[in-house]
Amino acid sequence: HAKRQGGNRIEPFRPAFKTVGTDKLHLESDLRRALERKEMGLAYQPIVRLEDGEIVGFEALMRWEHPRRGAIPPAEFIPIAESSDLIFALGLFAIEQAASDLKDWQGDVGEVPVSVSVNISSAQLLRNDLCNDVRAALTKTGCKPHHLKLELTESVVMENPEQAALVLARMGEIGIGLALDDFGTGHSSLAYLTRFPFDTLKIDQSLVRDTSDKRAVLLRSIITMAKDLDMKVVAEGIEHDEDAGELFEMGCDFGQSFLFGPAMRAPAIKQLLRERFPLSKAS
Ligand code: C2E
Ligand code: MG
Ligand code: MG
Ligand code: MG
Repeated sequence: HAKRQGGNRIEPFRPAFKTVGTDKLHLESDLRRALERKEMGLAYQPIVRLEDGEIVGFEALMRWEHPRRGAIPPAEFIPIAESSDLIFALGLFAIEQAASDLKDWQGDVGEVPVSVSVNISSAQLLRNDLCNDVRAALTKTGCKPHHLKLELTESVVMENPEQAALVLARMGEIGIGLALDDFGTGHSSLAYLTRFPFDTLKIDQSLVRDTSDKRAVLLRSIITMAKDLDMKVVAEGIEHDEDAGELFEMGCDFGQSFLFGPAMRAPAIKQLLRERFPLSKAS
């Protein structure tokens, strides 16, 4: 204590944090209030069947509209959320919002045959309530388990493979789809990943857009292995029509990229689905 140390001596002011950290700290405290202030939302990017271009589902991507800074990309705020407890509230929000939007698109009677995939962080996977949260969201919305998918990256499952395998097995039993995200960026082999009940493999855009002469060999082997393991394959970040054709020839089932459509807010998706599936009673 300053006073006890010597009469009237005044302690020099020491900033509590280094300046490089203050921006992150501001963002973290802003993020803490963002949910209740309705600044967080989901945007949905179409996942299309390469064979005929039909939409089979959407990936839910979190969006933060900061009141002063405008849109802040998930690559910036998700790591901040992950390094604090905020990821649990944000993650739960994504699961519940995605399930409720999906139910809204499908309507009371008609069943529009699309699924929604939600990204899951490692802390969420390793905390015990993920299964309960997912189950509760399904019950609350009336959404069918096989219409909801979870996306996990290799690094997320590899952080604690034993625990991840347990949780994912339970998810699989409920009927939730499981996609291995950003495949090709991690270090694990596809064979090792068979211990997790993934039904879908998403090839990372860096591999899809690789310019080396090994690209085709890599893509073809990954797709062949995934198919042999009974997994569906989604290629991320396809930029050109020719690439879509080439991937389809290689056996890739689905694509998700700006070529097929950007991420859009729920009302736009609802409109899009009404046009695509006019016979269902989803309106
Ligand atoms: P991701 O799960 O691999 O999502 C795909 C990212 O690729 C999205 O970026 C999407 O906008 C972008 N993308 C799609 N098509 C193209 C394309 O043709 N070209 C290029 N260059 N990019 C394309 P976004 O929305 O910025 O999200 C980045 C990452 O943030 C996601 O990568 C995911 O890891 C994470 N993320 C987003 N939402 C959530 C969330 O709700 N929870 C968690 N835990 N992570 C999230
Ligand atoms: Mg993803
Ligand atoms: Mg991805
Ligand atoms: Mg990614």
